[in-house]
Amino acid sequence: MKYAIAVLKGDGIGPEIVAEAQKCLDEVAKRFGHEFAYREALVGGAAIDACGTPLPQETIDTCLACDSVILGAVGGPKWDGLPAEMRPEKGLLGIRKELGLFVNLRPAKLHAPLADACPLKPERIADGLDLVVCRELTGDVYFGAKHRDEDGTGHDDMNYSIAEVERIAHRAFRMARQRQGHVTSVDKANVLETSRVWRETVQRVALEYPDVAVDYLYVDNAAMQLVLNPGQFDVILTGNLFGDILSDEASCITGSIGMLPSASLGETNLGMYEPIHGSAPDIAGKNKANPIATVLSTAMMLRYSFGLAAEADALERAVERVLEKGCRTGDIAKADERVLGCSDMGDAIAAEIQDLS
Ligand code: ATP
Ligand code: MG
Repeated sequence: MKYAIAVLKGDGIGPEIVAEAQKCLDEVAKRFGHEFAYREALVGGAAIDACGTPLPQETIDTCLACDSVILGAVGGPKWDGLPAEMRPEKGLLGIRKELGLFVNLRPAKLHAPLADACPLKPERIADGLDLVVCRELTGDVYFGAKHRDEDGTGHDDMNYSIAEVERIAHRAFRMARQRQGHVTSVDKANVLETSRVWRETVQRVALEYPDVAVDYLYVDNAAMQLVLNPGQFDVILTGNLFGDILSDEASCITGSIGMLPSASLGETNLGMYEPIHGSAPDIAGKNKANPIATVLSTAMMLRYSFGLAAEADALERAVERVLEKGCRTGDIAKADERVLGCSDMGDAIAAEIQDLS
C-alpha cells in the first residue's frame, strides 16, 4: 500500500530524530512492500523564521492532504522572547485543532534492558509496566469559561458533554482490543459533577464492549496505584486535567525521556505522532539525541493510523533488540557503556528490521 505522510521536523533535535525515524520506516516499507511518500512542511520556530507564523496555512493543507503526520519537536531559546500568540508551541496546538485531534495517547513501557532507570523498587514492577494513558484533549477545566471577580476570586468552569466523553471512550475501548483488553477509567466522581457524567457515560459505552474488562478509579487512588503497582494498568482513560498529571507521572516511572512516544488522534485515521520530549536545544545539531521516542511514535502511526499491526510489531521488536544488544545513546547509557550517536542508533534499528525473522 502507498501512504502519504506529512513530515514536520520542527526545531532543535527535531530534524535529526525525524531523519532516523524515516530511515527505519523506509526499511519497514522495503520489507513489507509498502510505499511511504513524505511531504515536508514547516512548523514552530522554523516556520516563524521562514513565514512569520508558527503554523502556515500551507502546513495545515499538507497535513490534511496526508494519511498521517510525524512531528519532531518545536521551540528553543531563539523564540522564547516572542509574545504568547507567536510562540512555536502555538503551532502544535493549532495542528491539533485544525485536524480535530481530541485524544492524546502516551504509552509508558518499561524496556527490560533499561529497568535500572526505573525509579520504583523492583518488586513494584514485578508485573511489568506497559500501559497507555488516553487523555481527552479538547474539553475540561482548561477550556471552560474563566473570569475573576472584583474581589480577586478566580473561576475556571469545568465541563464535559456526554458526546465528548462518548467519543473518547469508544477510542479507548477500541484501543484496548488491540492491546491487553482492559480499560481503567479515572475520574473524581465522588465530588465532581463532570466526573459523574464521565463515569455514567463510560459505563454506558462499556456495554458495547463486553470483551473488554473495565474498572473505575478515583484520580487520587490512580496516582497512588501508578507508583505502587503500575503493572495492573493497560489503558487509562481520563479527562484533560487528570490526564495531564497522570501521563507525566506515568512517563517518569519509565526512566528516560528519550524513549517515550505519543500520538494525537481524532475521529478519522489521520493522527499526529511525536516524541513526548522537547526540542532539547542543549544537544541540537550534535548527533547526540536519542531517536527511539520518535521511532516508536512512528510504530504507533503504523498501528493506529494505517492499521499495520505486523509492521508496528516489527519496528518495536527491532528497538527491543538493539537495546538488548547494548546499543545506547548518551541519555540511556551507564558510565561504562559505549555511546552511539543519533544516526548510529537509527542505523542499528534499521539493520535490525532487515534481520528480523
Ligand atoms: P519542552 O518545553 O519543549 O518540553 P524542555 O526543555 O522542557 O522542552 P526537553 O527539550 O525535552 O525539555 O529537554 C529536557 C532534557 O532532556 C534536556 O537536557 C535534553 O537534552 C534531554 N532530552 C530530551 N529529549 C532527548 C532525546 N531525544 N535524547 C536525548 N536527550 C534528550
Ligand atoms: Mg518541558
